Amino acid sequence: MDELTKFAPRPTGAGEMFQLLRDGQPRTRSDLATLTGQARSTIAARVDALIASGLVAAAGEASSTGGRPPATFAFRPAARVVLAVDLGATHARLAVTDLAGAVLAEHGEPIAIAEGPQAVLDRVVEIGHLLLEKAERPLEDLVSVGVGLPGPVEHSTGRPINPPIMPGWDDADVPALLGRRLHVPVLVDNDVNIMALGEHASQWPAVDHLLFVKVATGIGAGIISDGDIRRGAQGAAGDLGHIAVDGADQPCRCGNTGCLEAVAAGPAIAAALAARAVAATDAADVVALVRAGDLDAAREVREAGRHIGSVLAACVSMLNPSVIVIGGIVAEAGEHLLAGIREVVYRRSLPLATQHLRIVASRTGARAGVLGASTMAAEHVLSPAAIDAAIG
Ligand SMILES: [Zn+2]
Repeated sequence: MDELTKFAPRPTGAGEMFQLLRDGQPRTRSDLATLTGQARSTIAARVDALIASGLVAAAGEASSTGGRPPATFAFRPAARVVLAVDLGATHARLAVTDLAGAVLAEHGEPIAIAEGPQAVLDRVVEIGHLLLEKAERPLEDLVSVGVGLPGPVEHSTGRPINPPIMPGWDDADVPALLGRRLHVPVLVDNDVNIMALGEHASQWPAVDHLLFVKVATGIGAGIISDGDIRRGAQGAAGDLGHIAVDGADQPCRCGNTGCLEAVAAGPAIAAALAARAVAATDAADVVALVRAGDLDAAREVREAGRHIGSVLAACVSMLNPSVIVIGGIVAEAGEHLLAGIREVVYRRSLPLATQHLRIVASRTGARAGVLGASTMAAEHVLSPAAIDAAIG
């Protein structure tokens, strides 16, 4: 944006006007004219174009004090669908949703991400077609695909970058591999960012500053700031797992020692328990032990929470979120993890930053990723520029 356009009035083309309708509330032409400051004739033409596209439909009549009540119009999320794909190391979850994230058909199955992009994405296309069929929507209704991958992704190109647990995927052109089969734009991001998007869009839409922390085999965060996901210069923002923890010297898979992941992720908690002769090898074992009432496991999970809390206290000072959501499989251990995190964050942060800060467990659980992939895909086709291009 240059110096002159920065201070120009906000543009209100059809795409911009459409954003006002995305909350689903029916509005009259005169509501829209008031909100945008534009002439009724301009508004009428834009409403007509949006109705022709199917994205907006007449929504009945507004109440009126006399005379003929004016017609209202509303966003119609069912007009098109997106395919949401959440790929993990060993499991895939896919859904066909409408443009507001309502799930129309859903499927999960075990996969091996290590089989490489060709095999895995072939299967994604197959399931995508099956889900469209199940949702009774033709391929022509599909407008975009959102994909989450369990590793670092350069979001602008959709290519994984040196993903440690995805052999064969480095620099794979995921948008091209899927796009040439499904003929729509494909957006790709890492799993933590799409979980943050999914939790934010479905549970905390009015919150502009949210941190989503995934605690599983690794530890990472998705950052929502000023309402948008922040990916950083290389897409590596939020990689909390390799921040050093005071006084820790455990070796980490990254080659350093004392990383947060090496003391507080699922495998680290399991190892601490195994050292005390409790049978545990991974995060799922830890969760099962805590749920069965094992006191050692509960204590180790709480201690892991304190380590995570010490890193999050620094994040709170830096980003001033109003909500921190804790997700990932270790969060399923329940209150012990949250208690450890809260204890340290509230003690180590300044009162102004924690006055209204809530630290809560994920409400979407295993569905966060697929909901976020849907959000990412829908946002791409509903942005002001995309709408203007589509109906222009
Ligand atoms: Zn590390």
